[in-house]
This record gives sequence, C-alpha cells and structure tokens, in this order.
Amino acid sequence: MKETEVSREQNGLPDHHRAMDKGGKSDARGFRYRRLRKFSIILMSIVALVPLIIMTAVNYYQYQKAMRADMIFPITRQTSNTRHALQSFIATRRSALDFVIRGSTYEELSNHDKLAELLDDLKTAFGGFIDLGLIDSRGNQVSYVGPYPLEGKNYRDQDWFHEVSIRGVYVSDVFKGYRGFPHFVIAIMHSTGDGRSYILRATLDSDMMYRDIISQNLRPSSDAFLVNRSGVLQTPSHFYGKVLDTISLAIPAYSPKTEVMEYTQGTKKLLMGYAFIEGAPFLLIETVEPASYMENWLSVRKQLLWFLFTSVVIILAVIIWGAYHMVGRIREADLKRTKMLHEIEYTNKMASIGRVAAGVAHEINNPMAIINENAGMIRDILTVTDNFPSREKIAKYVNSIVVSVDRVSKITHRLLGFAKRMDPQIELINLKDLIDEVLSFLGKEALHRNIAITYDFSPDLPEIESDRGQLQQVFLNIVTNAIEAVKDGGRINIDGKVRPDGRVDVLVHDDGPGISKEDLERIFEPFFTTKKAHGTGLGLSITYGIVQKLGGEIKVESTLGEGTTFIVTLPVARFEAGG
Ligand code: ADP
Ligand code: MG
Repeated sequence: MKETEVSREQNGLPDHHRAMDKGGKSDARGFRYRRLRKFSIILMSIVALVPLIIMTAVNYYQYQKAMRADMIFPITRQTSNTRHALQSFIATRRSALDFVIRGSTYEELSNHDKLAELLDDLKTAFGGFIDLGLIDSRGNQVSYVGPYPLEGKNYRDQDWFHEVSIRGVYVSDVFKGYRGFPHFVIAIMHSTGDGRSYILRATLDSDMMYRDIISQNLRPSSDAFLVNRSGVLQTPSHFYGKVLDTISLAIPAYSPKTEVMEYTQGTKKLLMGYAFIEGAPFLLIETVEPASYMENWLSVRKQLLWFLFTSVVIILAVIIWGAYHMVGRIREADLKRTKMLHEIEYTNKMASIGRVAAGVAHEINNPMAIINENAGMIRDILTVTDNFPSREKIAKYVNSIVVSVDRVSKITHRLLGFAKRMDPQIELINLKDLIDEVLSFLGKEALHRNIAITYDFSPDLPEIESDRGQLQQVFLNIVTNAIEAVKDGGRINIDGKVRPDGRVDVLVHDDGPGISKEDLERIFEPFFTTKKAHGTGLGLSITYGIVQKLGGEIKVESTLGEGTTFIVTLPVARFEAGG
C-alpha cells in the first residue's frame, strides 16, 4: 500500500504540471485561432474589396468623364455654329464691299448719286448696311451717303485710318451710332494700277448679328453674346449687361478653336463656350447652366456610393461570418482529434498496466499457492499433534497467514480477470433483473447501514444483448463504490433510460461526498484509490475495461459535497467485440 501511495504522489506531480501546461496550451491555441481568424478576415477582405473599390472608382471617373463629354459636346457645337455664322456674316459684307470697290472707278464712287445707288443695292442684297463713304489716301471724305453728317470730314489722324492703310481692311468695335443704335464699321482700301489708293468705308448694324444669329435657339437659362477683347459687350446679354457695358468675366486667352470651360458663379456651376471671330475684334461667348447634367451626375454618384457601401457591408458580413464559422469548425476538429488521441493514449496505458499487473499476479500466484499449501499443512499437523505450550498462538498465526494469503489470491485473481480477454457470452438481459441480482449480493450491507437503494427503470427499456457475468461485475463495482461512499442512512438511485440514439443508459447516483476534479481524471486508472488500505483501486479500471469490451461507454458526473453519478451506456443489439 505504501508503494501505491508513493506511485500516486509521483504521478501527482507531473499531473499538476500537465494541467498547467494544458492551460497554457489552450491559451496559446485560443490565440492561434484568433490570429487565424483575423488573418483570414483581412486576407479575404483585401481580395474581395480591393477589386470592388477599384472597379467602382474607375466606373465613377468614367461616368463622370462620359457625362462631361455629353454635356460639353452640345455647347461646343452650338458655339462653333454661331461662330461660323458670324464669320460668314462679316466676310460676306466685306466681300460685297470688295466687289463694289473693285467693280467701280474712283470717279463713279465719288459721285454721290452713284454711291447712293450702290448703298441701296447693298441694303437690298445683304442687309445691315447703314452708310457708305469714299475716303481718299489723304484721309478726306470724298463722298458719303448715310444718316451721319460726315461729308468733308478728315480721318488722317485716326487709328482705323492707319490700320486700313497698312492692312487693307479694317473692322471696328461696336459703338453707339446714329440714334443710339449699336453699329460697327468695315473699311476696305483699294489700290489701282496707276498707284492711286482710296478707301470704301461702311457702317453696319451690329444688332442684326445679335437678332439674326446669336439669339437664335437661345434657352432662357443660357446666354450668348459678343464682347471685344477688353471685355466690352458688343451685343446685349441676358445676364451680363447691355451693349457697351463691361462684363465681369475674365476674357480667356486667344485660341483658334472653339473652347469650353467650367466656372462657378456664386453657387452656380456654369459651362462657358467661347470662340474668337476671325477677321473681327469680337469674341463669342455662350454660357449654359448644366442643371440636368449635375442632377444626373449627383444621382448616379449617390447610386454608386450606395452600391459600394452596401456591397462592402454585405461582403464584410459574409467574410466575418465565414471566418468565425470556418475557424470554429477547425477548432472543433482539432479538439476532437486531441480528445481522441488522449483516449487512445489512456486506453494504451491501461492495457499495458493491465499486462504488467497480470504478469506480476501470475508470478505471485505460484509462491502464494505454496505458502497456502504449507500453512494448510501446518494447520493439519497442529490438529493431529498433542498439545504443547505455544500451540494456540501458532494456530492463530497460521490462521492469519491463511486469511492474508486468501486476500492476496483474491487480488491476484481480480488482476488476472482484469487483464484476461474473456470471450463474452451473449444472452438477452433484462437490466432490471440484473440490477436485482446485483443488489441481492449487496442488500445485506445496505440494510445494515440503513442505506436506501431505489431504482426506477423506464417501462419501454428493451432487453439488451450482452454478457451477464461481466455486466454483474460492472454494476457490482459501481454500486459497491456508491455504498462505500455514502454515509449511514444515505441514498442511492439507479435509473434505466433509453437514449435518443437508441442505446440504453444506466445511471447510478449517490449522495456521497463527490469526487474532486483532480481525482476525477484518475479514478479509472488501476490502483488509484482514496481508500488507503481498504481499497485496491482496481474496481473502476476493471469496470472501464469491461464496458469498453461490451461496446459501451462509462462516464462520471460529480459535484463535491452533493454526490456522484456513474452513467453506463450500453448498446441494445449484440455489440461488436472490441478492445
Ligand atoms: P477502490 O474502490 O478500491 O478505491 P475503485 O477503482 O473502485 O477503487 O475506485 C477508485 C476511487 O474512485 C475510489 O477510491 C474513490 O475515491 C473513487 N470513487 C469511486 N466511486 C465513487 C463514488 N461513488 N463516490 C465517491 N468516490 C468514488
Ligand atoms: Mg471499488
């Protein structure tokens, strides 16, 4: 017994360490799973979200670009068309003047009546002409027809005169002319073969350009007008003032093409198309308020952002759920595997201990038989010999030897039984009857100690195919332990139930002191006992082996101070003979 205790203590130490180690490991394992989960969430998020975000961004910019192009194109076209119409308006009238000055002699042009005739023709053919005058190379107004009192005027010192002398043609800015109507001037110089040069100068109605060309097809929210290069309005404008007002916009730099730019005015975003008119000091400006474009764009943008947001939320939710689920599964599988390894280890341990024990028992049996036989001989001799002084004493010692040897042989037989692979004998067993039999062995002690043993078997409990002798052994061990555990006057309940999986449970519950957590891990080990000299520590290990062999399971639930329940689960049909 001393040896048993020593070995228990020796086991106790590493066990303690093992418990600590296990705690550490499970912590590390928890950390490992959390890291795995974090890693998979991050990885999957990157894989799923980055392309989505990139796609949405690309979409966003392409959409924006397409919508801008859609919006810019019409204003470019409109500005371009108006520009061409204006250029041709001016070019036609210039060509007409060119035609007149080339097709007539200086003398004809100096003739007032002839000039008046020509002005009439120009008015009818082209429109827009207000007056017509001939100026000689020294700047004198030679003849004039029109509403202004210009006869005899000299232009030598004026800028336009110099310009037309150098370039051969001049187109003026708009000015307030006769009766306050806005006009502009076209002047053309002609040199004849004999070295004489003179100028034909016509005033034109600039309002006609606005009326007939610029203001056509103008929507109320849009604007179109001409300015000169200093920003003075050459035609009226919806939003920027009257003729000859200076507009508040900056004049863009010269470009030969029609251009469109965006600019903000107050809170409004506007699009401005502009084009410089060839052959005239004018700049055509058109503005539109791209309301519908903005609205469209905003709603598209809102939809895109919503789409992105909901997709991200859904994807993240799925990823997180998936990661938890997956890692949970992995963890479960790991736990299962560890548990299985543990069980295998335990079974192996028990098997090897059993083999050793059987070997030892076998070896001990022979000398024990000899001791027993010899003790019997001594006893026999004592009965036939005459009395002598220490006879009584010797008889007592011999008796004690016989009792102890008997006890040793009981133990060795149990050990041998524990290790032996007996072929079970299968028969149909009524568990209630079986328990009755077991209790009939133990009833006396229970009665003696006033222990109440009740049992409750559910009526639908089937008979099971199993080995009667071995099952008796199982319940004998368990109920004996229970009787040993409870105080005098304690209670033991034995219940039989059918499990949902069809197997049968027999529960043996006592209201004894319970089993501590550390002991609970070891009670099935051979030689583990808390009963000092009274216990062998073999009962439960044998029981465990038998139940296993009968294809069942044994479990314990115990609360310190409240009691213990042993649950033996057995198959109903003939079991598969196993380890
Ligand atoms: P033994 O009965 O010889 O001690 P067992 O293998 O039958 O050996 O039991 C091992 C140990 O399990 C017992 O010493 C006891 O500590 C504990 N044990 C078993 N059954 C009970 C029970 N019903 N209540 C409390 N402890 C128990
Ligand atoms: Mg026991």
